Amino acid sequence: MIELLPDSIANQIAAGEVIQRPASIVKELLENAIDADAQQIELIVTHSGKSRIQVIDDGVGMDPQDARLSFERHATSKIKSSADLFDIRTMGFRGEALASIAAVAQVELKTRTREQEAATHIVIEGSEVQKQGECAFPAGTSIQVKNLFYNVPARRKFLKSDPVELKHIQEEFRRVAMAYPEVAFTFTHNEKTLFKLPAQSLKPRIVDLLGKNWASFLLPVEESTEMVSIKGYVGKPEKSRKRPEEQYFFVNRRFFKSGYLFHALKSAYEGLIPKDHKPVYVIYLEMDPAQLDVNVHPTKQEVKFENQRAIYNYLKVAVRHALGKFQVMPSLDFESENRFFQGDSGSSTSSKGKARPPQPSQSDEDWAQFLEGVRPQPDEERAAGEFILSSKVQPDSESEGELFAEPTISAPYQIHRSYIISPIRSGFLLIDQSLAHERILYEKYLKMLEEQDVQTQRELYPTTVEFSAGDAQIFEQMLPTLTSLGFDIEPFGANTFILQGLPAMGLLDSDGEQILLQLLDDYKNDQDNQLSIDQNVSTMLARTSCIKKGKELAAEEIEHLVSQLFACEEPTYSPGGRPCFITYTLKDLQKKFSKKQ
Ligand code: ADP
Ligand code: MG
Repeated sequence: MIELLPDSIANQIAAGEVIQRPASIVKELLENAIDADAQQIELIVTHSGKSRIQVIDDGVGMDPQDARLSFERHATSKIKSSADLFDIRTMGFRGEALASIAAVAQVELKTRTREQEAATHIVIEGSEVQKQGECAFPAGTSIQVKNLFYNVPARRKFLKSDPVELKHIQEEFRRVAMAYPEVAFTFTHNEKTLFKLPAQSLKPRIVDLLGKNWASFLLPVEESTEMVSIKGYVGKPEKSRKRPEEQYFFVNRRFFKSGYLFHALKSAYEGLIPKDHKPVYVIYLEMDPAQLDVNVHPTKQEVKFENQRAIYNYLKVAVRHALGKFQVMPSLDFESENRFFQGDSGSSTSSKGKARPPQPSQSDEDWAQFLEGVRPQPDEERAAGEFILSSKVQPDSESEGELFAEPTISAPYQIHRSYIISPIRSGFLLIDQSLAHERILYEKYLKMLEEQDVQTQRELYPTTVEFSAGDAQIFEQMLPTLTSLGFDIEPFGANTFILQGLPAMGLLDSDGEQILLQLLDDYKNDQDNQLSIDQNVSTMLARTSCIKKGKELAAEEIEHLVSQLFACEEPTYSPGGRPCFITYTLKDLQKKFSKKQ
């Protein structure tokens, strides 16, 4: 026998979806006030919301008819058709909250629009209207909810202790107040004012809500693309903890949770915080509501993004940028002055500390001797930011001792922003900074290809590149190599490709399209295919991303460049076959200075 449930029970069941605890009511009432364009919102709670929750706002108010309708299930002024579901700009849209609250509590509404003389007064208990009339009330709305679950004892019994319920309420309050700093809020519990927030800007609002001690630990995040704008703050790494509470994502000012985006954020902190720690953050995304589905669950903490992969990448880049900008981590990935080192971060330790013995025609021993004085200092010393002179060499009476009793070998230095003079035991080297760096990068890229050890740096703006039909075909052949170098390129049909990311090796600020066109050109020009695609691409990339003449180098950069060059397999020549350095021996010099004959 199937029987229809009485309305009162049906309403209570439906209410269970939306109203789980006092904090759910706080959330719904605060959001309604926001949707009503309130500038000032007052939250009054007693007994952790178990006996009373009241929200008073100075928003648009309701006329008598709307006031009565607002308690009907699925009554909303916020959407009209299903199409509107894809363009939600308000916090509410289901038209369920007031109906649900009225089903399980005693509710008193006072509301007045600016046009109306008298306010509407409605008392409703367990979905039954008890009283409807007029009263005096300023423009705006007050909704008071008393004795939650008075008619559903089973649910009332399941409410948690007062401190726990109050904590939930505070959390809901925080989320709304954080999203609307331009709105003033007060929050009173048991006659005690917990928060009194003026209309303010974002950072003071966050600090007021999280605590004064946060002021100096917040790093601003700000990045925007056509698709999404990201702003907010992340905590300095030292503020990370195993279970931080301060983790807030908002999209279009709606709080949400997302393990996926949290992962992006956490990975931006990689290496900066212990593995079992979590960063703190208050991040606001703004985007076209059409790209977003907020209709996932009645309590609306989950959202779906149309293109969540892209948002993941943008967020990660934005946060890394924020951390880098404030020198929380070596800003190598982003600061153009340092781009020269960018590609080295991965392998630098090994090649700096213990240079791989070079293996050109000369034997290792020859090289070791030749390069005496060029070898780098240990990493620790370099890390301290000190520039340490290359080791002093003891005279060796058997070789050059005859020339100078106590040869000292000083640090390499740059001249004319183009060449590096690097003293060696037997004289000095004149190094072409550009060709040397080209060699270093070339070998690095080849090695990356060999070891499949690549990292991609997403471009903030994907670029579309279009080729002629013939070129597109050639380009397709190059795609696998480009991909294994860290290019993220998607064929897009009709000879078009979308470039989403470049190898994380110094190309971030470069013009991606230019690089691809150049690569294609080089490949086509290598008519008899002397070089493999790998070699071709590495050559071209090295040429594009190497430091150029005219670039002033810091002492450490010079030292690094020299030691890296001599850690190469073939330091003598650039990939294009030009010498990377010229050797001047003391004997040569002596000859030059000898008397005219
Ligand atoms: P929803 O917010 O999803 O539309 P609610 O049940 O929360 O549904 O509210 C129903 C309707 O009551 C709203 O659409 C709005 O028109 C009106 N309303 C509720 N609270 C307020 C308020 N504080 N000020 C003005 N109008 C309100
Ligand atoms: Mg609502």
